Amino acid sequence: MSGTVIVGAGHAGVQAAVSLRQTGYGEPIRLIGGEDCPPYHRPPLSKAMLAGEKRPEQIALRGPDFYERNGIELFPGARALALDPASKTVRLADGSLAYDKAVIATGAGARMLAGFQRDNVFVLRNMQDALSLQDALIPGANLVIVGGGFIGLEVAATARKLGLAVDVVEMQDRLLTRAIPAALSDYICRRHRAEGVRVHLGAQIERVVAEEGRIASVALSNGAALAADLVLIGVGNAPEIGLAAEAGASTAMGGILVDGAMQTTLPDVYAIGDCTAFDLPVTGSRVRLESVQNAVDQGRTVARQITGQGGSYDPVPWFWSDQFDMKLQMTGLSVSGSGFTVRGDVESGSFSLVETLGERLVAVHSVNAVADHMASRRLVGAPGRFDRSAAADPDTPLKACLAAPAGPPRRAARIAGAEP
Ligand code: ADP
Repeated sequence: MSGTVIVGAGHAGVQAAVSLRQTGYGEPIRLIGGEDCPPYHRPPLSKAMLAGEKRPEQIALRGPDFYERNGIELFPGARALALDPASKTVRLADGSLAYDKAVIATGAGARMLAGFQRDNVFVLRNMQDALSLQDALIPGANLVIVGGGFIGLEVAATARKLGLAVDVVEMQDRLLTRAIPAALSDYICRRHRAEGVRVHLGAQIERVVAEEGRIASVALSNGAALAADLVLIGVGNAPEIGLAAEAGASTAMGGILVDGAMQTTLPDVYAIGDCTAFDLPVTGSRVRLESVQNAVDQGRTVARQITGQGGSYDPVPWFWSDQFDMKLQMTGLSVSGSGFTVRGDVESGSFSLVETLGERLVAVHSVNAVADHMASRRLVGAPGRFDRSAAADPDTPLKACLAAPAGPPRRAARIAGAEP
């Protein structure tokens, strides 16, 4: 038996390997690493690692001897150049690996903006990016961040703590449009401004002034000129779909299309993690998710599929982000036409926005409200009528706001009206 070849050793790829062994898979597992270092936790790259509070080996996903002990052959620094579904092989620079099952877990790469490729311009996606950026975060320096999304704002918070002057340039009229509602964007913007981050909303970059191969300043369409010792581009990611697409797999929404079994349109080829697009049962919509939850749960799902245990991917999505003293935790996906109930005291810095559509709980967006978040992961998508007025009282547990229907418990009712 040739076993399983997993391409990509991020959260998804490593989880697939681990879960395969945990579910009793006895065939060879080969994990193609891509990067030179052992697999690591990605969230600390913009926070504790970047701040110098953790060293690379402290954020490793597993201990140094884990892979060998579990019969997982790791290929650090190797890249899969091609996948041939006819001969069932993955080609590397120095040979080919045969597979019975292939799992593509290639993730997504940071987008760069045209005109910004200079020595003092950074992106942040992998370990090497984080180490390079860390070297450049010198107290007192002017950091211009393009993009007010998760990466931009997490780096803004870390850089302020390190004593840099920080500008965030966001082209939308609010922060974090991808994942959170406007009411929460406003709160986060106020917190960043209170911490000294200069946030420029609805701002277009008109011109970049370069001197000696480095960007010296960034001119905005509103006339502002931002001095820059270094620039971070945080404008989102593009899924790494080349390997799958060149092999003939179907794509959707810029990702590799998979079904609930994580199967691509190629036989015996699966895909998991940030590189995938799929139909999410809880919303009834096709999505592409970039989150640790999605990567890990898809890794578990594919392992169950390969070992013949069945089950399909039917999660309630959740995400988190740490910025200054804010722990943001989100469960579910926002939909159009929904309403919001504030739970807790916004000014205290600990509250949740409870999002409902009719009598259905759609999402819960929490700031320093861990109990709400944990409860919401069991409640979003659950059947039953959700009482939003009861949820306004933080002393009423969230789970008491859901009137479950009679009969055996069932999760994952579809959220009618979810955005496509
Ligand atoms: P990431 O994970 O990289 O932070 P997000 O999707 O969370 O990605 O955020 C990217 C942010 O960058 C979005 O708020 C988007 O509006 C913003 N953005 C994209 N292109 C530009 C641009 N050219 N100038 C300013 N902001 C941009």
